[in-house]
Amino acid sequence: MKTLRTFLEEARAARRAIGHFNISDMAAFKAIIEAARSLGVPVMIGVSEGERAFVGVHEASALVRAARDAYGVPVFLNADHTHTVEKAVEAAKAGFDEVLLDASAKSFEENVRLTRQAVEAIREINPEIIIEGEIGYIGSSSEVLASAPEGAALTPELFTTPEEAAQFIKETGVDVLAPAVGTMHGLLASMVSGEVKKRLDIKRIGEIAEATGAFLTLHGGSGTADEDFVAAVHAGITIVHVNTELRLAWKNGITSALASHPDEVAPYKILPEAVAQVRSVVEQRLRLFNS
Ligand SMILES: [Zn+2]
Repeated sequence: MKTLRTFLEEARAARRAIGHFNISDMAAFKAIIEAARSLGVPVMIGVSEGERAFVGVHEASALVRAARDAYGVPVFLNADHTHTVEKAVEAAKAGFDEVLLDASAKSFEENVRLTRQAVEAIREINPEIIIEGEIGYIGSSSEVLASAPEGAALTPELFTTPEEAAQFIKETGVDVLAPAVGTMHGLLASMVSGEVKKRLDIKRIGEIAEATGAFLTLHGGSGTADEDFVAAVHAGITIVHVNTELRLAWKNGITSALASHPDEVAPYKILPEAVAQVRSVVEQRLRLFNS
């Protein structure tokens, strides 16, 4: 199996992006693996600190490794939004392929300091692990929100600049950068209905890619206009995160399965509807990122 770094290099050269999807349970896990297998594309699975507190750090690692070893699926695991060096080290030791140290809510200097500490600690455990840092706070909840997250960088004057991106990478040594370029975590009700789409600053993405030469991640992809996704990937985005859309699909699947089979108690008979709905979202997104 090629490494995640190789898949990222291939994706960048081909102007494609690797889809990154979060899980909290086996239903979403199955859906993502089935989607990746059916389309024959690499995929990343993410577990944030909250998600891995539920799934288990070692359990998540074992699940992804099992799918890779048993079925040859190019699936890689990311310790999504890790806020402390201690949690980053825990994920690195558990065999994660990528760690995102997210200190984006702190000052630039503090962000650099913490991220560099994590880079040093992780490289010592396994130099193959891909390390991501993030500049520009874009909220922290992948849920349906009543209003945009307070203090988030959602307007052009607050977006990440090519200069700070280049400085951040030089000072931290990360492989991947998550800039603020128009998305936020979570969805507003108007985005759930599809009435409003998230729009991206494609020009800025191109300038950051040019200035840094780093792999770039787009976080908070749920609810983004399809054409912006395609343009962003062509401009230099290498990984795209989608979580809230999957959570909504998961909930719709469970709700409809329970409504149509009110007497059913066997989880393995209720959950397939959630798998089907999540898989459908993942396949749509993967087609777009690999087009
Ligand atoms: Zn994110």
